[in-house]
Amino acid sequence: MSHVLPRLADARRLIIKIGSALLVDGKTHQIRREWLDALADDVAALKARGVEVAIVTSGSIAVGREHLGLTGRVLKLEEKQAAAATGQIRLAHAYQETLARHGITVAQVLLTIDDTEERRRHLNARATISTLLGLGAVPIINENDTVATSEIRFGDNDRLAARVGQMISADTLVLLSDIDGLYTADPRKDPDARHLPVIQMLTPEIEAMAGEPPPGYSSGGMVTKIAAARIATAAGSRMLIANGHRMNPLSALETGEAKCSWFLPQANPLTARKRWIAGHVSPAGSVVVDDGAVKALAAGKSLLPAGVVAVEGGFERGDAILVRSRSGQVLGRGLSAYSAADARLLLGRRSGEIEGLLGYRGRDELIHRDDLVLD
Ligand code: GLU
Repeated sequence: MSHVLPRLADARRLIIKIGSALLVDGKTHQIRREWLDALADDVAALKARGVEVAIVTSGSIAVGREHLGLTGRVLKLEEKQAAAATGQIRLAHAYQETLARHGITVAQVLLTIDDTEERRRHLNARATISTLLGLGAVPIINENDTVATSEIRFGDNDRLAARVGQMISADTLVLLSDIDGLYTADPRKDPDARHLPVIQMLTPEIEAMAGEPPPGYSSGGMVTKIAAARIATAAGSRMLIANGHRMNPLSALETGEAKCSWFLPQANPLTARKRWIAGHVSPAGSVVVDDGAVKALAAGKSLLPAGVVAVEGGFERGDAILVRSRSGQVLGRGLSAYSAADARLLLGRRSGEIEGLLGYRGRDELIHRDDLVLD
């Protein structure tokens, strides 16, 4: 089986999630600078090979609480937020300093759950992060803990990292934590627990292996890692879980020295895009289609202008719109290849007439099947 194991060396756009327990010393609450420097050396080596790297880092609360005298007890949400506010400055500074040793510029990006779910903000955040990557910077990303209230909070950076990966179409997500992967049972309790080097599919048995979230300030545990795997693999990305405690954990993963669990992508990028269409957009309008088109769509075909009987709302080319039947039933949603104004000119017409009607040759389909998700 080993020949099918993915390789970290193949990553082109990589998200690295770093857990608090790695970055912050449990006793002194200080950032473990030597470890961070070694990690930065790994990142610099990846970047030198042309890999785009974004880091999702935890640790703002763990670092900040010390400086506010909030140690030795469980914190209330507002205290965590206060701790994050002061800790985040120190975190960002530490990353800036350590990567500057390699001439690498960092950029701080703080996100809330809405920034990843709401289309406009999702696209804005995506554009910003992609621009930073294109300019050679390393985005240092964390949840915006100071404003994220409990109901609208990721709370754990495993899922945040997976969402960011989905947002920017990362091909690989690495979760560095204090365990070297997924085991058939909790290895601390069960001597028969077996390590799983590769997980092809997130079956209910795999989900059950995650067990309960652990106590303490690492908010994740295996439960949120499996949830992250669900997001990442559904988006066409590979994910790996590895123990990051050792020095230079990324190069150890590349050479195969470090053990890890790989989760393989569940879908090709096309399906990932469809998931984004289905789940992350607020439709800007709709088109009503005739019965022939209803059948064609159900058979997996694209929506042609000929099948459209009405266009509702104002939308631009590329916007997500609803597709309805004459009876008003929502059949699905997709990205329109034409603006509402152009679509109105095309309705009921054959694709061969498009150029004559609009004065330019656009796509034959109003919604291509690759851009269409049926309900
Ligand atoms: N955003 C939190 C912090 O920086 C960490 C969440 C987590 O532990 O995953 O402290």
